[in-house]
Amino acid sequence: MNTIELWQAVLGELELSLSKANFTTWFKNTFISEINEHSLTVGVPNMFTLTWLEKKHAREIIKSVQEHTGGNIKHISFRVETRQIPAQAVPVAGKQEVVSHIQPVSEQQTQTVRDFFSEQAPSEVQENRTGEFSLNGKYNFETFIVGKQNELAHAAAQAVANQPGGVYNPLYIYGGVGLGKTHLLQAIGNELLRKNPNLRILYITCERFTNDYVTALRTGKMTDFKNRYRMVDILLVDDIQFIGGKESTQEEFFHTFNQLFQNNKQLVISSDRPPKAIPSLEARLVSRFEQGMLADVGSPDFETRVAILESKCREKLYQIEHDILNHIASVVQTNVRELEGALNKVIAFHQFKNVRPSLETVKPILTSFQPSSIKKNVTPKQLIHTVSLYFDIRIEDLLGKSREKKLAFPRQIIMYLMREEMKSSYPSIGNELGGRDHTTAMHAYDKISECLTEDEKLQQDIEMIKQRLYTM
Ligand code: ADP
Ligand code: MG
Repeated sequence: MNTIELWQAVLGELELSLSKANFTTWFKNTFISEINEHSLTVGVPNMFTLTWLEKKHAREIIKSVQEHTGGNIKHISFRVETRQIPAQAVPVAGKQEVVSHIQPVSEQQTQTVRDFFSEQAPSEVQENRTGEFSLNGKYNFETFIVGKQNELAHAAAQAVANQPGGVYNPLYIYGGVGLGKTHLLQAIGNELLRKNPNLRILYITCERFTNDYVTALRTGKMTDFKNRYRMVDILLVDDIQFIGGKESTQEEFFHTFNQLFQNNKQLVISSDRPPKAIPSLEARLVSRFEQGMLADVGSPDFETRVAILESKCREKLYQIEHDILNHIASVVQTNVRELEGALNKVIAFHQFKNVRPSLETVKPILTSFQPSSIKKNVTPKQLIHTVSLYFDIRIEDLLGKSREKKLAFPRQIIMYLMREEMKSSYPSIGNELGGRDHTTAMHAYDKISECLTEDEKLQQDIEMIKQRLYTM
């Protein structure tokens, strides 16, 4: 159960004991702002609600949360906070300054309970609209910051969104992790959907395409598969590099590509490297990919990093002084995902302590992002050892063949950390882990990076492992 589901369950219970108007007045726009083993912070829209809930409902809320979580939460606090995208379970979404004066509750707060819940779950609404492979609305052109390193890719993406199936077909965007490729692919999809909600837009990772294909073969449902992929208006394929070496998937993709291309349907493809550099990619696919527009994205320069931080702060409704943003931008230089991660960490810390960020309080938080803090030279062996102890799994099992989830996940964490902390190459990561293929290592890295954006438990695990690793 994530925090949103938990809160809905709690509200579902409280609703039974209160009149509808009462319930709506006090619980509209509330959400779980933070939760850990022992305490819970509830975000509320204004001081008036805060005082009321504190006085009248704190005990009931704790009781209900205990029932749903198994009983450890003992402390509850409330905090004035607004969230723009309540469906996101990230702990550090928008916060506004706590207002110290009492605000009257607006009349409009008599919205129905049903509306309230549908407000809480916009992602579901979107899911229905765009089908199984939904686009994420937060990735749009408005939130994409343009700098020298990505202006070509950005311009091409906009051109495609204005004239799909036109001059840039396919559009092939490539570059390192966390530099905005997925963001651009999704922005194209979102923009086209906004202009024409009837367009059939399919966003898909290469991995998903491969799995679907294999399943279709196994279950004899090739016709369905072909219809699904060949009948779309726009096909957005993320991380195509994983198709390398998979011959029959490549064959199938080749035909999908041709069919769409011949019908002037737009294809947009992303990859971590140019077509020629994808190992074991058939020549005919290389030439198809190269026939449209190739655009790369690079690491953002200092000014762009600052602009990105400013934009993320605006999104999160959180204010940080300029010199502090400059500091973050000068420390975190690798990619945008890390930059966001650093910012989130800074915000979370200060919200938790309820203090304003200053250079003194921010600096220690960023030590783990400092290139120089690729600290003590740890070896892959030490890392494997640490993870083995942390999850209480034998090293032989971690390096062995079994793909059982309880082994596969820690193994992926090791691969992720080897890449992230030691900057090891994918082939050498594969080697260290019992002679696995480099694509396995790439996949593990991407998967863990992806999960880290949502999964608080995983964030904690990784932090703890790092701590143990460097303080051994
Ligand atoms: P990639 O697919 O290249 O690995 P993503 O598109 O997933 O990277 O980007 C990682 C994170 O950084 C996302 O949250 C994305 O919104 C953000 N991001 C990347 N580039 C930019 C940019 N130029 N402006 C704003 N946000 C960005
Ligand atoms: Mg991506």
